[in-house]
Amino acid sequence: MTKSVLVLPGDGIGPEIVAEATRVLDAVNARFGLGIETREALVGGVAIDAEGSPLPDDTLAAARAADAILLGAVGGPQWDDLEMAQRPEKGLLGLRSNLNLFANLRPAILYPQLAGASTLKPEVVSGLDILIVRELTGGIYFGEPRGIRTRDDGVREGFNTYVYSEPEIERIARVAFDAAMKRNRRLCSVDKANVLEVTVLWREVVKRVARDYPEVELSHMYVDNAAMQLVRAPKQFDVLVTGNMFGDILSDCAAMLTGSIGMLPSASLNESGQGMYEPIHGSAPDIAGQGVANPLATIISVAMMLRYSLQAPAAADAIERAVADVLDQGLRTADIAGPDEQPVSTRAMGDAVLAALSRH
Ligand code: NAD
Repeated sequence: MTKSVLVLPGDGIGPEIVAEATRVLDAVNARFGLGIETREALVGGVAIDAEGSPLPDDTLAAARAADAILLGAVGGPQWDDLEMAQRPEKGLLGLRSNLNLFANLRPAILYPQLAGASTLKPEVVSGLDILIVRELTGGIYFGEPRGIRTRDDGVREGFNTYVYSEPEIERIARVAFDAAMKRNRRLCSVDKANVLEVTVLWREVVKRVARDYPEVELSHMYVDNAAMQLVRAPKQFDVLVTGNMFGDILSDCAAMLTGSIGMLPSASLNESGQGMYEPIHGSAPDIAGQGVANPLATIISVAMMLRYSLQAPAAADAIERAVADVLDQGLRTADIAGPDEQPVSTRAMGDAVLAALSRH
């Protein structure tokens, strides 16, 4: 059966890193007979320049029709002065909302070979492999009413609404339990149920969903403790699930545990399993066009895509093993190279992953 992947290179280093990731995708496609067809479209700043919109209609239509989307990054200084609705980031946000990508999966993996890159002690983080599942389309970032108003006594106040419905909690919980089943079967739900009613309901619903996953060991943690535990002993976690705002903060904290922004992938999924896969970093305009960007976050995003949207776990494993292999060989792009290590180019890193793939 044919599967379709829409490739959106975007801006800055996007085209460079996506070129390597698609070479890897093509290689596993041929090797594992996956029947994946790819096509490319414009999003972000390049789409503004070519078509006057960060998310042209034909890109959105192609995204809707695809089983999965591989995105590089969007944005750059040349578009910074545009008004909010016309900025490159709107392309990304438009894809997320139009495809209803409510589940954001952010792994934080620290390959033992790169343990020195973290600001934490190597023994605390070496071999770290956790997954944060963040609800992406609800919670306080979208709750109504919201705004800034002047009270009758003349005092101004700002307000937001933190709201989650039972179905919203249930669907993100299921994504997290499903992900835990594909990993080490431990799930920690993060809330603030000692203070916020919305998360009392969150906890109740997560517990209810847990009955359908008897093999997953479920625990609960308040968000303040979770933040502490993430920097104290992050390896205690397997999968964490939480709402939009807590997930925003905790996933960035977890990313920094690894110290290598060029290594981290992400996925955003909807209820039909369709997903958008992208590195967590931006378009890195400071190094764009130089051929020095690290393509590994995008290559690992392809592995996530194969696992979560294209049901090709063996191909995903092969890519992840190949990445570990090139790190073992000592290959490093500039962002992850130590002071005594000679950095390799984006293309050379892609070549090395392809060579490692063909060895396995
Ligand atoms: P950034 O992630 O692009 O860059 C931060 C730093 O990390 C830079 O020094 C950059 O050179 C480095 N870096 C990032 N990715 C790298 C890689 N693969 N290899 C080597 N080094 C890498 O963040 P920023 O500088 O704050 O933002 C730059 C632009 O990207 C802005 O226009 C911003 O809006 C946009 N942005 C886009 C996304 C996205 O598309 N998802 C996310 C974040 C930022």
